[in-house]
Amino acid sequence: MVSQLTFIGAGNMASAIFGGLIDNGYPAEAITATSPDEEVLEQHRARYGIQTTTDNSEGVSEADVVILAVKPQIMREVCEPLQDALQISRPLIISIAAGLTIDTLGQWLGDDSLPIIRCMPNTPALVGKGATGLYAPAGISDAHRALAGDLLSAIGIIEWVEEETLLSAVTAIAGSAPAYFFYMLEAMEKAGVARGLSRDIARRLAIQTALGAAHMARESEYDPQTLKQQVMSPKGTTERAIASFEQAGFEKMVDDATLACFERAESLA
Ligand code: NAD
Repeated sequence: MVSQLTFIGAGNMASAIFGGLIDNGYPAEAITATSPDEEVLEQHRARYGIQTTTDNSEGVSEADVVILAVKPQIMREVCEPLQDALQISRPLIISIAAGLTIDTLGQWLGDDSLPIIRCMPNTPALVGKGATGLYAPAGISDAHRALAGDLLSAIGIIEWVEEETLLSAVTAIAGSAPAYFFYMLEAMEKAGVARGLSRDIARRLAIQTALGAAHMARESEYDPQTLKQQVMSPKGTTERAIASFEQAGFEKMVDDATLACFERAESLA
């Protein structure tokens, strides 16, 4: 049986998930999205054929699954008015909000016995290439775990983690990480221009190289370290470049950046 899904919030991540589901054959009529922004809802109705409402409580009243997809800063004011409606429908709750713990969400929803699963997707979900970490506390049924896993698989790969705090590590390595790679592409493009290439050519080459390297890393029998070594012939060009990265403290830079991200995610809890 198809589950009725309601997305509270109809922004980037919500539309990436319901768009991915619909692309994968999920019936649009089983999906509802809510937002105070009627114009956005109209666009989603026209593009995806989903149901919409500006009334969050009405949205959750018939739902089997409620996906909390508003910004963490307004989650409390969005959750508290849902308490009565959720007592009637008692859906599975899936939160995609960064930082907010299951305990906190349970309190705001007025019932810590509601089944709540947390996940941390990332923006490549918009093109079906997301990487999502999921966490379910003890007591969540296998059926609910399977349902959450199936839904999030529509937008890319999923990885379950066994402790809630590991979702902050997922944020550091995947949730926020598309920006790290965009930053690398930006720097590569600038470096290509500095070496005489046009901006367009530098950008296309850098993007294709990133895509190719990611494909190789995923498909190859070798780990990334070995793949790196395979490009580095002794005394060759790549060896020079990697030595320069090492001298500049590249690994420490990545470690520091992911630690800063992890700590920020933990501080939102
Ligand atoms: P967004 O701003 O694109 O979307 C937020 C949506 O919430 C908008 O449609 C807005 O109209 C709606 N909204 C505002 N007030 C509302 C209310 N009272 N009731 C119902 N809807 C309301 O934000 P986003 O990037 O889609 O982020 C949504 C969630 O996803 C956040 O909690 C964020 O932490 C999480 N997340 C985002 C990313 C990312 O990279 N963008 C990655 C992982 C997780």
